[in-house]
Amino acid sequence: MKEFTPARVQAIRRALSDWYQANKRDLPWRRSRDPYRVWISEIMLQQTRVAAAIPYYERFLARFPDVNALAAASDDDLLNAWAGLGYYSRARNVRAAAQKIASSGSFPDSYDAIIALPGIGPYTAAAVASICFDLPHAVLDGNVMRVLARLTQEEGDIQSSGTRQRLQESAQNLLNVSNPSEHNQAMMELGAVVCIPREPKCKFCPVSRDCHAHSAGLARELPVKLRRAEIRRVRRSLLVAIRNGNILLWQREQDAALLGGFYELPEPHQLAEVKTAKLLYEFPHAITNHIYDFHVMAARVGQVNPPLQWVPLEQLSALPLSTVARKALTGGNVLL
Ligand code: SF4
Repeated sequence: MKEFTPARVQAIRRALSDWYQANKRDLPWRRSRDPYRVWISEIMLQQTRVAAAIPYYERFLARFPDVNALAAASDDDLLNAWAGLGYYSRARNVRAAAQKIASSGSFPDSYDAIIALPGIGPYTAAAVASICFDLPHAVLDGNVMRVLARLTQEEGDIQSSGTRQRLQESAQNLLNVSNPSEHNQAMMELGAVVCIPREPKCKFCPVSRDCHAHSAGLARELPVKLRRAEIRRVRRSLLVAIRNGNILLWQREQDAALLGGFYELPEPHQLAEVKTAKLLYEFPHAITNHIYDFHVMAARVGQVNPPLQWVPLEQLSALPLSTVARKALTGGNVLL
């Protein structure tokens, strides 16, 4: 990540401000600094593109014009107004926050009080605090991260917490504290219409002169987003062998790094002789980048060697069973 001299920071702030004044889109939530309206728009924009969000926003505001109306909304009314936006937990959080605000008498006007509301994270809190109350908190959403990664030529993985932390510091450093509302909106607007993901429009960018990625010819290469490891599906069998009121299990070493001391069902490769009879249950279980498709089979087995052991069935419910073993035995109706 590269830095800017104080003089260049000033120049970037000025260029952003001039550009935003001349080019900002006329969006319904920009016509007011009412925190209720700004907050609702920010929540909707987390899950929907601007053009698609506008009709939802206008309908929602017509139905719930203020925080008191939203606080009193019934489940049906709320979900109807939110229908099509998805993430219904957000709608419920929005109403829960409205109820808190309504009971306190006014919208909170500090960052700490805003972020304490249900469903509000650092991004929304910074947006509302800066846009509505001119508080000096820099926003960092996906668009702003992309702009900053390019401006500073940040080459770390954008999904890592270290990179995010550096970008947050850089956003705060660039923030124009004499007009945080305009500055934050300008950064978001630049990311939305000029510094766009695949083909950034550097020719029309107000800060191209100071953009390190642009100077280095790396604008399209940044930000770096490493691919997550591919998910692999693996089929595995678990055996349920019961003999004379005992079930066959094995216990992990007490000091094993993973699930030490937990009991597991055996798998075929642990036995010299095994005959499977029928499928009792099947279920998927995800661990890191694997999805295991477990097949739980009733089985008859030959000779048993440690660590396998026969355990009385009546002790089963009191044993520390791994999640996989518990799922298999519950689904297979062995553990009720
Ligand atoms: Fe983005 Fe290009 Fe502007 Fe740099 S010059 S901020 S890469 S649009």
